[in-house]
Amino acid sequence: MGYGIIIIFSHNSQLYENPNKNKMTIKNPNYNKEYYKNNEEYFKEYREKNKEKLKEYFKKWRLKNKDKVKKYNKTPKRKAGSRKYQLKLKYGLTLREYNKLLEKQKGVCAICKNRELNKNFLAVDHNWKTRKVRGLLCKNCNLVLGNSKEDISLFQKCIKYLEEYSKD
Ligand SMILES: [Zn+2]
Repeated sequence: MGYGIIIIFSHNSQLYENPNKNKMTIKNPNYNKEYYKNNEEYFKEYREKNKEKLKEYFKKWRLKNKDKVKKYNKTPKRKAGSRKYQLKLKYGLTLREYNKLLEKQKGVCAICKNRELNKNFLAVDHNWKTRKVRGLLCKNCNLVLGNSKEDISLFQKCIKYLEEYSKD
């Protein structure tokens, strides 16, 4: 929803009624931030009451401003915001908790101890049954675990098989 608020203030300051009946100005970019902070409760309530109206407004705005949205989605801030959202949604992790885990693992995969080269971040591995986060893995190790369906005996058979043929 944070994204939405930014759009309202920078592109349509008239959408919100001013609870203090003072006219809003968009000349000072910090003014709106301050204004929002001071009236946080009011905006929260307004959003709740006008959910459908706002949804419709944003839909129209995004269609009208496709280029702006595209540009904004490519900014590091937006990418980080989306990642933050995904972490919370999928694993219940905050960005700080993720970084703490990464620090604990010294920035490398928990299995192969390699750094992820393709992307700057490692995948979050969690137990599918308990949903508890186990550690951070590189793409490769994450795939191996996923494909094995976490069957330990299969790994043991793999080792046995590879050892057998390593004698050649
Ligand atoms: Zn790995």
